[in-house]
Parts: sequence; C-alpha cells; structure tokens
Amino acid sequence: MAYEETVSNLRRSFREGRTRPATFRVSQLEALNKFLEENRNQIMEGLKKDLNKPAFEVELSELSLVKSEINLALNNLSSWMKDENVSKNMATVLDSAFIRKEPYGVVLIMAPWNYPVLLSLVPLIGAIAAGNCVVVKPSEISRHVEKLLADGLPRYLDKDCFAVASAGVDDTKRLLENKFDHIFFTGNPNVGRIIMTAAAKHLTPVTLELGGKNPCYVHDDCDIRTAARRIAWARFFNAGQTCLAPDYVLCSDSIKEKLVSALQTTIHDFYGEDPKKSPDFARIISERHFQRVAALLTCGKIVTGGQSDESERYIAPTILIDVKDSDPVMQEEIFGPILPIFPVSGFDEAVNFINDREKPLAAYVFSSSSQIVHQFLDQTSSGGFCANDGIMHTTIPSLPFGGVGHSGMGMYHGKFSFDTFSHSRACLLRSDGREKLNEMRYPPYDTSRLGFIFYSTETKRKSSCALM
Ligand code: NAD
Repeated sequence: MAYEETVSNLRRSFREGRTRPATFRVSQLEALNKFLEENRNQIMEGLKKDLNKPAFEVELSELSLVKSEINLALNNLSSWMKDENVSKNMATVLDSAFIRKEPYGVVLIMAPWNYPVLLSLVPLIGAIAAGNCVVVKPSEISRHVEKLLADGLPRYLDKDCFAVASAGVDDTKRLLENKFDHIFFTGNPNVGRIIMTAAAKHLTPVTLELGGKNPCYVHDDCDIRTAARRIAWARFFNAGQTCLAPDYVLCSDSIKEKLVSALQTTIHDFYGEDPKKSPDFARIISERHFQRVAALLTCGKIVTGGQSDESERYIAPTILIDVKDSDPVMQEEIFGPILPIFPVSGFDEAVNFINDREKPLAAYVFSSSSQIVHQFLDQTSSGGFCANDGIMHTTIPSLPFGGVGHSGMGMYHGKFSFDTFSHSRACLLRSDGREKLNEMRYPPYDTSRLGFIFYSTETKRKSSCALM
C-alpha cells in the first residue's frame, strides 16, 4: 500500500502524544506563519504560473485569510482546548461531567486547485490546532503551488507529525487505502463520492466541501449598478474559478436589460477595453478546464465577452442571455468567467427554480427590501447565504463555512475548524464513595425504587414543571 510508511510514522508520533501539548500546537502554527512570511514571493509566483492570479487577489483570498485563521487559532487555542463543563442530573450532581476535545489522530486533507494555498492551509490550521497529525494532499493540477507546499512545508513543520503527499489521481487512490481518522476533502461532488466510498471501508468520518451552482436572484427593486458591480466582482474574481461565485442570475424581464447593461459597464470599468490585457484578470487553470469552459460559450446568446485564446487559457468575462434550462451552462457548475442571466417572472418563480435543484454552497439575493431578503432566506436552503453581495460571508470566521446536501457536509473556519478536527468526548468522573445511593439500580430489581431513579435522572418538560 502506497504511503503506508508515512501514515504509520505519523501514527507513531500521534500515539507518543507529540501533537497534544498546547505548546507544540502553538509552535507549529507559528511555523506555518513563518512559512507564509518567508515564502510570500514564491507563493505569488506559483499562483501567477498556475492561474495568472493577480497579486491583489492572492493577498485577499489566499494570504490574508490564512494569516487571519492562524492568528485566530493562536489567540483562542487555550480556551478552545479547555474541557467544557456541562450541566448534570441529580444522580451525578456531585461528580464532574465535561466534554473533552480530543484530536482524532492522523487526518488526511485533500485540496483542489482553485485556491490551492488557502484550501490546503486553512484546514491544516484547524487540524494542527486540534492536535492531529496530518497528511496534506494538494491538487496536482496547480502544480507550482503543489511543489511549493511539498518542498516548503516540511522545512517548517515537524516532519514526524506532518507530511505532504504529491499525488496524481492513481496515487491518491492508493493513499486513500490507508486508514485515516478523519478525511477533510474539498473538491467536486463526483470525487466526493469516491472519497466517501474509500472512507466507508474504514468507517472514517469525512468532511466534504463540495461545489455546485450558486443561484443569485436579483429583485426588481434593487440598486442595479451596485448589484452588477458586486455580482461581477464575485463572478469574475479568479476568472470565475471560485466555489462560492454566483453561478447564474435569476431576474425578471423588466430589469434584465438594465442589469445586462450595468454588467457590461462594470466589466469595462474593471478590466478595460480588452480584459485579456488586464493585469487583474486570471486564467483558466488547465487545458482540460479551458476546453470544458469554452464549450459552454455555445449556450444561449453572448452579449458581452465570448472571446477566448487557447494558447493563454484565456476566456473573457462573458454574459449570456437566452439560455435554456436544459443547456449545459445551466446544468453543470460553470467554474469559469461566464455568467448566464435566466429570466423568471418574479420572486416566487426564482425560489421554485432554486428549490427544484440541488442545495447550493451559497445562495444570493439582491434587493433593497428586507422583507424580500428574509423571505428568500426563509424559503431557500444553502450552505451559506449573503444578501446584497457575493462571497463576502466567507470572510467572517465566526460564521461556519460548508455545504448542505449536494454541496457538502461538515463545516470549518475559526472555532468550527477546531471542532471539525476534534472528537467531543463525553466524560464523567465519579468517585468510588456514596455506594449506598448507587445500590438502587442494582439487581435484584425493586420497582418501587424506579420513582427515585427517574426523579434523579429524567429531564422534565419545562412547561409541565411550571404546572406542578
Ligand atoms: P477535484 O475533486 O477534481 O480535486 C480535488 C482533490 O481530489 C485533488 O487533490 C485531486 O487530486 C483529488 N482527486 C481528483 N480526482 C480524484 C479521484 N478520482 N480519486 C481520488 N482523488 C481525486 O476538484 P478540483 O477540480 O480540484 O476543484 C474544483 C471543484 O472543487 C469544484 O466543484 C468546486 O466547486 C469545488 N470546490 C469547493 C470548495 C468548497 O469550499 N466547498 C472550494 C473550492 C473548490
């Protein structure tokens, strides 16, 4: 079995308790911070080579978010690690009952290519903070960042406790044959199924951070210019290769023209006459993905963009209208710089359209009416939700990040990451005294004692208590 030795070395370190002390966790988080600081330029270069990612976008969406997560973990680690005392019943009132946050053991983190630093390191921060040993498997598609992580991380982190696996699909399948204590996977839902199947063999718990089609409903009453700018930013950031990007817009015919025109102006304002020459617009990650995204340009009617250049893996920011529900662009996750506008008669049809499909990672609504915003929130379901903007909810680490249904299971960021990589162990510490009180529950059973036992252990309904 491939990687068997790596995993068993990590397991030995875990059993020796190497990762448990808070001081060790702090030292590794600080080492990760040092890795980021000392390799800033190389990270910038790697992301430029892989995705032509603009430096501003790297700062915002990879470096700053990772640094914030490290700082948050360092600031809160001691309180996160504390045993959490819980309320008790009468039978255990003199005992100590608490939840201990225990590390799982050896965990596997698998990352995609679109934010290859962020999506490898943010889960890693949670896993380190929670006291686990870790195998990080970056995406082989973002190969410059993969190499950077594989060469760089072992120079900063304790090699007995953390390893980076550079693996293509076949090697990853072999890696997955090993028994892990938790698998944290970010990627597409089809691969998510493969991961879950491999995990099931060992009954390994999984967190699946998946993708899908994020709807964006634009209500008639909204400020169209603002909506267009915020939607365009969220859609075309990283050339549309963002799991949280608004995937398609739903709006009524009465504002469609105004919205299209505002989006056209915005694209011009953001990226100039020729977005290909803009330093602020990324490229598609690979030839295969270029072909896949370019094929979607044949759906509907292009009202802006549509140009592409295979040699640079460039696809222009594109707006499509007149798309059909059955078109591939409305069926599969776009994951590129294309935004279809799909007409609906109004709010109710938009909500039905969304609810007829798989639950998305994010759902967006643009409206100046808080009633519309709340109705949309109440009547739809998604991993996350943001009104009058796109993506921004993910910048708040006190909000959980994760999908629901087809867009994933489990959550992370901030304290949620720590909890995801911890087992909540239910603990009761009793003394060996007061045996007389305990004898009531032992055979030979006496039903007349049940009343007292129930009195000391059962939870009563508050309303019925109040009546008594
Ligand atoms: P992917 O599923 O192809 O790859 C993710 C990881 O799985 C990579 O490390 C890859 O090496 C591995 N992998 C790929 N095929 C495999 C196989 N057959 N067996 C075992 N391992 C395999 O995803 P991607 O193309 O890198 O990323 C794009 C997808 O990820 C999109 O669907 C996007 O929405 C989703 N995504 C989700 C989030 C989120 O936080 N929910 C974030 C980013 C991307």
